[in-house]
Amino acid sequence: RFFLPANLKGPTAELLGPEAHHLHNVLRLQPGDEIELFDGDGTEATARVESASKKRIVVSILSRQPGAAELPVPLILATAIPKGDRFRWLVEKATELGVTRLVPLQTERSVVDPRATKLEKMRAAVIAASKQCRRARLMEITPLQNWAEFLTSRPTDDPLLMAHPGGAAWQADWVAGERPTTICIGPEGGFSDAEISLANSRATLVDLGPRILRIETAALALVALCGASLRS
Ligand code: SAM
Repeated sequence: RFFLPANLKGPTAELLGPEAHHLHNVLRLQPGDEIELFDGDGTEATARVESASKKRIVVSILSRQPGAAELPVPLILATAIPKGDRFRWLVEKATELGVTRLVPLQTERSVVDPRATKLEKMRAAVIAASKQCRRARLMEITPLQNWAEFLTSRPTDDPLLMAHPGGAAWQADWVAGERPTTICIGPEGGFSDAEISLANSRATLVDLGPRILRIETAALALVALCGASLRS
């Protein structure tokens, strides 16, 4: 399965750069072999290799269809950033679980402040995970946003769930509607009282059990709960 961020509507398409290298030098595919393509924007296609050289592969498009691996409504994960490689792991797993958009959050107690270049590098993890889990739409990663800015940017009618120990026990009907759902995860030191009161009138505080989870565990647990409820 190859990522081709281009219009897949024409009769042929070209793969260049790392995707061409992977097809030609690593997998050693030949003219006549069939491959799958996805454009990162929701379309996937079946294609046949017509010519293959080191840097340029020409394929003919045999069929195309909308990808079928997305959640029925958008799921937005706004999260403080875990340290080191745990962020890359979170990006990979959030992609696999169908998150539509990941918003890196700057909170009062955040200790990780990722540079734009680090966020840009995460795109490679999103592409690799999308190939593996067969998504045709890439999970978007936005620039860093601070908590107040982020809260005011969310439409007031959309469900907003804030993971916080001592909140309410999970209810599937919080996310049963047609509107995009947003999940918020705090930093290792937790959300501050001021951040909780800023969100309180519009967010539902959600408890995830008696154990204190790391950022990435809490994020993926709540994403999985929402994903399962959206499908049912
Ligand atoms: N001492 C912090 C507190 O009490 O909030 C723990 C922070 S925890 C390491 C990081 C984030 O994960 C929290 O801000 C919260 O969003 C989420 N989280 C972790 N465990 C949770 C739980 N049992 N219930 C709800 N949210 C949890």
